[in-house]
Amino acid sequence: MALKQTADMLTLSPQEIDERYTYTGTDLGVTFTETTIRLRLWAPTAERVIVRLFRTLKARKVEEFEMRSSEQGTWVTEVDRIPYEGYFYTFQAMIGGAKVEAVDPYAKAVGTNGRRGALIDPSAINPDRWVMERPLFHSSQDAVIYELHVRDATSHPASGVKARGTFLGLTEAGTQTETGMPTGLDYLADLGVTHVQLLPIYDYATVNESNPGEESNYNWGYDPQNYFAPEGSYSSNPDDPSVRIRELKTLIQALHDRGIRVIMDVVFNHTFDAEKMPLGQFVPGYFYRQNADGTLSNGSFCGNDTASERAMMRKFIVDCTTYWAREYHLDGFRFDLMGVHDVETMNQVRSALDRVDPSILLIGEGWDMDTPLPLDEKANYHNATKMPRIAHFNNGIRDGIKGDVQEAEDRGYVGGAFERTSEVKRGIAGNVSSQGFADEPNQVVTYCEAHDDLTTWDKLAVTNPDDTEEMRKKRQMLATAIVLTSQGIPFLHAGQEFFRTKNGNRNTFNAGEAINRLDYERADENRGAVAYVKGLIALRRQYPMFRLENAALIKKHLRFLEEEEGVIAYELKRTYEGYIERQRVYHNATEEDITVTLPHGDFEALVEENVVKLHAPRLVEGRELTVPALSTTVIAERRPDYKKYAVAGGTAMAILGLLYAANKRRKNKK
Ligand code: CA
Repeated sequence: MALKQTADMLTLSPQEIDERYTYTGTDLGVTFTETTIRLRLWAPTAERVIVRLFRTLKARKVEEFEMRSSEQGTWVTEVDRIPYEGYFYTFQAMIGGAKVEAVDPYAKAVGTNGRRGALIDPSAINPDRWVMERPLFHSSQDAVIYELHVRDATSHPASGVKARGTFLGLTEAGTQTETGMPTGLDYLADLGVTHVQLLPIYDYATVNESNPGEESNYNWGYDPQNYFAPEGSYSSNPDDPSVRIRELKTLIQALHDRGIRVIMDVVFNHTFDAEKMPLGQFVPGYFYRQNADGTLSNGSFCGNDTASERAMMRKFIVDCTTYWAREYHLDGFRFDLMGVHDVETMNQVRSALDRVDPSILLIGEGWDMDTPLPLDEKANYHNATKMPRIAHFNNGIRDGIKGDVQEAEDRGYVGGAFERTSEVKRGIAGNVSSQGFADEPNQVVTYCEAHDDLTTWDKLAVTNPDDTEEMRKKRQMLATAIVLTSQGIPFLHAGQEFFRTKNGNRNTFNAGEAINRLDYERADENRGAVAYVKGLIALRRQYPMFRLENAALIKKHLRFLEEEEGVIAYELKRTYEGYIERQRVYHNATEEDITVTLPHGDFEALVEENVVKLHAPRLVEGRELTVPALSTTVIAERRPDYKKYAVAGGTAMAILGLLYAANKRRKNKK
C-alpha cells in the first residue's frame, strides 16, 4: 500500500486534488507496446487498485493484478500481450474502505452494453480501405452541415438498405426507393452537403445492445456511458468489441470517399448516472460540479453536470476529442450543452484539435445554463467573443424564422410574424453586428431546425393552422432558403428538406424508430422540395458571397434593401477581377406576390418559385421583378461573357501575331 494514502485523502477538495494530483501524461487507459499492455488509472484518493481480467465478455473466472501507485495519483501495471490481448477488463479500487468496480473511463473498446472494457488496440482494427485524407474544405462557412442519427438514416423499409439502422447500413451504395430515389449514403452524397453530423456514436447507456433492432429499443444517445468507445447497437455484433470499431471506421471512410466530412456529437456536460457511470466512480465527488450546498448542480437538466473547470475533467474532454479526431479521422465536434462547460476548456479543445488539423470544426450549444460557474467563464454565446473559431447555435435566427421553440403557438417570420424581421436579418448577416453575439461568422451556426423541439413542419402546423398544405410547404421552403443563403455556418436537420414530421411530438429521444426514422417515401413524394434544397446548397457552394469569410467582408459587401413589410431583401456586391459581382436575395413572407425594382444591369434569376436554376437561369426582362408570395428569389448580375472575351482575346492575339510577323519580315528585308 502506498504511503501517501491516508484517511485525509478523502476529505481533499477538488481544488486540492488539482493542485497535488493533476496528471499530464498521455497514457491513461490502455497502451500497447510490442510485448506488453500497460494500464493506467487516475484515482488519487484510492487506497488500492487492482485490474481484473476476464477471458470473455461473460466469463466469471477472473485473474487479478495489483496496480502500483505511480505519479500524480495514477495507478499502473503491465500485463503480457500474450495471452491477455483480447481479454476483457475492469478496475477495482478501495476508496475509503469501500470497494468500487467499474469500467476504465478511458476504455477504447468495450463489449455488449459497455459493461467491460477490452484489451484491444483500435489502431490495429481498420477496414480494408482506411486512409487519412479528409475531404477538401477551406473555411468554416463553406460547410453545409446535415444532422443525422445513424439508425434513422436507414431504418425505413423504403430505404432499400440491407443492414438497416446500423453503421454499415449507411455505407451501402446504390440503395434507392422503389421509384428510384437514392437513399442512405447515396441520398446524402446527392444532396451535396459537406458535413454529416452524427448524433451520438460513442457508447451510450439506454439502448439494450443485446436486442438492438426492436422498435421501441431506441434512443438518440444523449446518455453517455463509455466516451472513448463506439456504440454497440449500431454494430453487426455488439459482443465483439472490435466489430463496432471497424464498422464505424468503415462508415467514416465511406462518407469521406463521397467527399463528406463527419462531425461527432459529444455530450460531456453530464453522464447517464453520476452514481453508476465509470466517470467519477474512482474519484468520488471530483468529476461532477456541486452547488454551494453540496448537492449536484443540474444545469443540464439530466441530474448532474460535469466539472470541466477541474484539471482532470478538462483533460478528459481534450483527450477524448483529440482521440476521436486522430483514431477515427473525425472532422468536427458538436458540443451538447456547451454552456455547461467553461471558456478555458473549450479554448483548449480548439487548440488541441488545431494540432491535429485546423480545419476540424468545433460547434456547440452555447446556451446560458444554470450551473455554478462565474458568468464570464461560462462557454455560452454571451462569451462567444472569448472563444475564437468555436461556433454557437444561433437561436435568434431559429426563433426569428419559425417562432419560439418553448412556446408552440409563437409564430416566426415565415409564419407571418413580421415583427421578427430584425432578428432574422441579424442572423442573415452572420450575427456579427453590434447586437449580435459573434465577432466573426465562423462563431455562428445558422439554422431553424434540429433534433430537439418541433420540426419546422410540425411547428407551422401549430402556428399557422389555417394554411393549405401547399402554403405550409412554401413557408418551410422559405425558412430553409433563409438558412442556406445566410452568412455563418448553415445547418440542416435531416429530413427538413422534405418536411420531416414527428406528428407534433417535440421530444422523440426515446419515442421509437417509426416516428424518428427518415421517411424516404415522404422524400419521394416531395422530390421537388428535395431538389430545391439540393439546388440551394449548390448555389451556396458556387457563390462565395453567401459564405463570406469574416465580419469585415460582411459589413463591406452585404447591404439590406428597403422593401415593404414582410419582405427581407439584401444585396451582396463586390468588385472581383475587374467587374462587379452582385447578387440580390428577396425573401417574401407575405401571402401576396410583390414587385421590386431592380437597378441598372442585366440580371438572371437563379432561384424563383421554389426552383433553383443555376444551369439555366432566366434572364430578367426590364427593371421590374415579381417575387411570388411565400418564396425566395435570388438574382445575380450577369457575369461577363467568357466566350466573347475568348473570341476578343483570340482576335487580339491573332492581330499581334500578324504585326509581329510583319515586323519580322520588315527587319529581314533590311
Ligand atoms: Ca451502448
